[in-house]
Amino acid sequence: MSDVLVAAEHRRGALRDVTYEAITAGRELADARGGDLHVAVVGGDVDGFAEDVNREGVDAVHAVEDGEEFDHNAYQAAVSTLADRLDVGAVVLPNSVNGLDYAPALGEALGVPIVTDAVGMAYDDGLTVTREMYGSKVETTVDVAGDRFVLTVRGGEWPPAEGVGDAAIEAADVDIPESGARVTGFEEVGGGDVDIADADVLVSVGRGIEEEENLELVEELADALGATLSASRPIVDNGWLPKNRQVGQSGKVVTPDVYIAVGISGAVQHVAGMKGSDTIIAINTDPNAPIFDIADYGIVGDLFDVVPELIDEFA
Ligand code: FAD
Repeated sequence: MSDVLVAAEHRRGALRDVTYEAITAGRELADARGGDLHVAVVGGDVDGFAEDVNREGVDAVHAVEDGEEFDHNAYQAAVSTLADRLDVGAVVLPNSVNGLDYAPALGEALGVPIVTDAVGMAYDDGLTVTREMYGSKVETTVDVAGDRFVLTVRGGEWPPAEGVGDAAIEAADVDIPESGARVTGFEEVGGGDVDIADADVLVSVGRGIEEEENLELVEELADALGATLSASRPIVDNGWLPKNRQVGQSGKVVTPDVYIAVGISGAVQHVAGMKGSDTIIAINTDPNAPIFDIADYGIVGDLFDVVPELIDEFA
C-alpha cells in the first residue's frame, strides 16, 4: 500500500517530458511513504518506452500492449488493474489533457480521492498537496484524507528523472475493453507541428512588439539563435501567431534551457507557463516590469534597438 504507480504518457511515437517529471514526483512520494516506485506504459512502442522510463529510482516497469495512441478506456483499465494487482496506494499522472481525461474515472474505479494539478507536495502522516488558484495569484494546500489517492502533477514543477535504472521490466497482461472511439490520426492546426514545450530555446514575444509586421524582427532573432518562437496571449488573441505558440496559464507550460521574453510584462498568467525555464532573459523598456523579478538576466531597453544588436551578434 505504500508503493506508488506512475502512468507514462506518449504521443505520436514519443514519450512526453511530463512523464519523466511525474517519475521524479512519484519517487519523492514513494521515498516519503517508504515504498517502491512502479511505472506503467500503455500502448505505442511499449518495449521502447519501457526501456526509456527505466530511469534511476524506478523499481519496476509494467508494459501493457495497446493501440498506438492514448485511449481513455485502455488507460483506465490498465492503470486501475495494475494499481489493484500491485496493491499500490498512490497513482501519479501528468496533469495533461490525457491525464485529466481519465484521472476522475480512475479515482472512481479505485474508490479513492483525486487531487489535480499539484505544484508541490509534502508527506508527513498523510499527503499535503500545494495547488495554485485564481491564475496563480493564490497558493492553497490540500490535505488528502487517507493514504490511497490519484494525484496529477503539473509539468515543469519537478525535474525530469534521469540516468538509467535497473528496474525489472515486465509485460503486463491486462483485459482492455473494446473502445467506442479511438484516435486514428492527427490534423495540424495552423503553426505547423511545432510544440513549443519541446524547444530548448524560446524567443517569446509580447505586446511590446506593437504591430504584426514587427514580428519579423523577433523571428529573425529566433532564427539567429536556432530558437523557436512563442508568445504571450495578446499576440495570439490578435491572431498574429497561432494558439499553439502561447505560453501561460491558458497556453502551454514550457521549461526550455533559455527563455527570452521580448516586450512581455510578466503577468502572473504568463509567468505560470514559463517560470520553470532554466535561464530567463527579459528585454523591456520598463525597469519595474514584473518579468524582471524572475529574470536571470535583464536588459532595460527598447526592443527595437536591442533585438537588432542581438541579431548582429548571433547571425
Ligand atoms: P503587456 O502586459 O501589455 O506588456 C507589454 C510589455 O512590453 C510592457 O511591460 C512594456 O513595458 C513592454 N514594452 C512596450 N514597448 C516596448 C519596447 N519597445 N521594447 C521593450 N519592451 C516594451 N497571458 C499570457 O501570456 N498567457 C496566458 O496563458 C494567459 N492566460 C490568461 C488567462 C486568464 C484567465 C486571464 C485573465 C489572463 C490571461 N493572460 C495570459 C493575460 C495576462 O493577464 C496578460 O494580459 C498578458 O500576459 C500580457 O501580455 P504582454 O506581457 O505581452 O503585454
